[in-house]
Amino acid sequence: PPVRVCVCILVTLLDTRTVPGELKWAASPSEGGWEEVSIMDEKNIPIRTYQVCNVLEPSQNNWLRTDWIPRSGAQRVYVEVKFTLRDCNSLPGVTGTCKETFNLYYHESNEDRESYIKESSFIKVDTVAADESFTQVDVGDRIMKLNTEVRDVKVTTRKGFYLAFQDVGACIALVSVRVFYKTCPLTIRNLATFPDTVTGADTSSLVEVRGSCVNQSEEREEPKMYCGADGEWLVPIGGCLCNPGNEDKGGACKACSVGFYKARSSDAGCSKCPPHSHSLRDGATVCDCHSGFFRADSDPPSMACTQPPSAPQQLISVVNETSVVLEWAPPRRLGGRSDTSYSLELGSGSGSQLCLPCGSDVLFSPGQTGLKTTRVVVSELRAHTHYTFIVHSRNGVSQSSGAGAAQSVSVTVTTNQSVTTLQRKFATDVTRHSLSLSWQQPDRPNGVILEYEVKFYEKDQKERSYRIMRTFSRSVDVTGLNPLTVYVFHVRARTAAGYGESYNFLVGDFCVNSAFLLLSVSGVGILLLISAAVFIISRRRSKYSKTKQDSEEEKHLNPGVKIYVDPFTYEDPDQAIHEFAKEIDVSSIHIERVIGMGEFGEVCSGRLRVQGKREIYVAIKSLKAGYSDKQRRDFLSEASIMGQFDHPNIIRLEGVVTRCKPLMIITEYMENGSLDAFLRKHDGQFTVIQLVGMLRGIASGMKYLSDMSYVHRDLAARNILVNSNLVCKVSDFGLSRVLEDDPEAAYTTRIPIRWTAPEAIAYRKFTTASDVWSYGIVMWEVVSYGERPYWDMNNQDVIKAIEEGYRLPAPMDCPVVLHQLMLDCWERERAERPTFSQILNMLDKLIRNPGTLRVGSEVCVSVVPEVCVPEWSVCEWLQSIGLERYRDTLAAAGYTSLDSLLALTHQ
Ligand code: AMP
Repeated sequence: PPVRVCVCILVTLLDTRTVPGELKWAASPSEGGWEEVSIMDEKNIPIRTYQVCNVLEPSQNNWLRTDWIPRSGAQRVYVEVKFTLRDCNSLPGVTGTCKETFNLYYHESNEDRESYIKESSFIKVDTVAADESFTQVDVGDRIMKLNTEVRDVKVTTRKGFYLAFQDVGACIALVSVRVFYKTCPLTIRNLATFPDTVTGADTSSLVEVRGSCVNQSEEREEPKMYCGADGEWLVPIGGCLCNPGNEDKGGACKACSVGFYKARSSDAGCSKCPPHSHSLRDGATVCDCHSGFFRADSDPPSMACTQPPSAPQQLISVVNETSVVLEWAPPRRLGGRSDTSYSLELGSGSGSQLCLPCGSDVLFSPGQTGLKTTRVVVSELRAHTHYTFIVHSRNGVSQSSGAGAAQSVSVTVTTNQSVTTLQRKFATDVTRHSLSLSWQQPDRPNGVILEYEVKFYEKDQKERSYRIMRTFSRSVDVTGLNPLTVYVFHVRARTAAGYGESYNFLVGDFCVNSAFLLLSVSGVGILLLISAAVFIISRRRSKYSKTKQDSEEEKHLNPGVKIYVDPFTYEDPDQAIHEFAKEIDVSSIHIERVIGMGEFGEVCSGRLRVQGKREIYVAIKSLKAGYSDKQRRDFLSEASIMGQFDHPNIIRLEGVVTRCKPLMIITEYMENGSLDAFLRKHDGQFTVIQLVGMLRGIASGMKYLSDMSYVHRDLAARNILVNSNLVCKVSDFGLSRVLEDDPEAAYTTRIPIRWTAPEAIAYRKFTTASDVWSYGIVMWEVVSYGERPYWDMNNQDVIKAIEEGYRLPAPMDCPVVLHQLMLDCWERERAERPTFSQILNMLDKLIRNPGTLRVGSEVCVSVVPEVCVPEWSVCEWLQSIGLERYRDTLAAAGYTSLDSLLALTHQ
């Protein structure tokens, strides 16, 4: 949640209570007007006051001017005047000459020695009246009531200024005058220092201030903050990060202590050194490894220091003719790592005498190096040869450990001799009862081929009865076969090492060959394809019908809910307009005056008299002459959209004029115009309940729109209209159209950034949930009486601040519950935002229990003297707890400040 710093510093430019000696301000006339009088204040300290009391004489014009006050860089100064004023009615015998006000003036000047009061050069600040006037001059009993009034003035043009007090016939004493300005105090936020900053010249202007990173830190993103007019810091953006080796300790970067480290500035803080490492000095960015432990280049500094693995264990080998299967167990010690890998080294020969590695035709499966498994099949070795296999184990620190060669085990094996499988090429010469077979010599006989063996049997017999033929040549004629029978043949060669693998195949007189097999396989394939296709088609069907069913079900569940129809789906825009809007005869409209300017032309107010109905006030929007087809279509689309709605909080369409020019859209008349301007005009004039009532209306209209599946996209106070009963209605149904028509151009230029949800800005995800975000902004606009969201920040900064989690703070006097609801509307995840229906329920609850809308008393802690904090008087406090009647009792007993009340006991 946003943090509000409710502290500002007041810098005093003048305080009459602290001026030693006489003030000697210029007075005109110099005699008989304002007079300087010394009195004792409530603490018996002498103070200077000015008094005038010419209530019996007419035409008083008494001026009193302060000395020149240098503005010292201030742009807006505050004048606090404490004064007492006599009630005219209590003065016996005064006529109409007696006044109960005085006027405050100022005059900017570079000159500190203006000798006389030049009245015409003074500008009036205000007429100041007393809240309390006294009736009896009885200072002893303190019946005189002190008024405190504060006014503020923009002073930007000269080095300083004069203030003047004009009396026109009152009985008045200026007890003290204090002039001060506000600054946002020096502060550190996100590790950046922001200097003491004088507030801006206007009440709503923000001063943009760049922060500088504190010592031992670097910029994460340019730190920035705004100094608000009240001297409060607002909207921190960006910030700094402590350098490596340092961490954030209460807004300063402090070095990591011994035994701790911080590697990157983006790391959260210093961390304890990982196992087997240490840091001996403050400010370590990485911890050194204990001796015998290492860190690989790719190891993060947060990882423990580790060791190389010990040797692999239990290496066993199984020889299968010219291949060897090697298997081993992982090392006993893995060194604290999980990246152990193995590699194989191979030599022929035996014992320690390793010959050169064999030819490259030796195959290692799955590989020779970088192995993660503990099993390798080595094939294509020479027959009858001794081989030595060495299995090395390594890990990420084997290299850096400097231990030289990796740990290893070895084994020596001797391969067998055997014949390889026959070459696949063969020929068949099939007749009804016989066939000829021939084949080629195996690739590597590994010795002398002693003979070939041909074994065959009927396929159905499955080796239950077979015949064997042996031959020295590479062909054989097989006779005595049964016709129409499939035979299985196995042919293999024999050398001194025994039989090799046999080569198997099918053959028969009805073309049992690979072609047949292929055909049957592809036949199955086709079948599979067909069934897959059938499956896919049937799946699609069922999904489609489900969708259809779903929507039918939906309709069934919400009977009577209309769904909004986009007029742009109509090919002919006139068809849409005539479907949704009534054509009005222009003669029944009486235009009266211009009330605003719309996108397409003037907006007027007037009257509409439709036959059989009473005359009503209407607003008339017209399309200015010389429009294009597109403009006509866009103009009328708003009516086509509006005409589909029927809700007390949606602006009602009365009809359209399309048959003659100019084209017009006629809507109900909203006497108070748009909500933002209306609120600005009536700043501070409504009760919280009234404001919540307005918000309730808007929420109700938006719920109706969302129920109709209409996404507004431009919900903002300027697009809400207010009628004479303070009923708020949603209007302006134009933006969705603009965005869709021209996505690129419209996106950057037309999107109302301050009102739009981040996902809608980033990738145009406009949904009811993004309307809810905008609704939260409207809430803020309403409670702050039309203040501009994010004040005068630029759009880029707004986007950045939102991205960084900043949210608008509660406006002045905003009940906590309302601000919480705003924050809920501004959840980053759109699924977490409330729905309009939930918002409506919530507002209804608040309206039923107005107690919940009491402004939460914000606790303001004053950390520096001369600090402005919302300070309650005893009187305000008593009012807030309904015990106002004890005001005088407490005052009489000397309890005049909240501090003194703290000492009050139960008795
Ligand atoms: P629009 O084009 O809808 O933004 O209208 C421009 C301005 O005309 C608005 O800001 C209102 O001040 C005024 N306006 C529009 N419609 C109405 C209405 N129905 N009743 C009163 N004023 C309206």
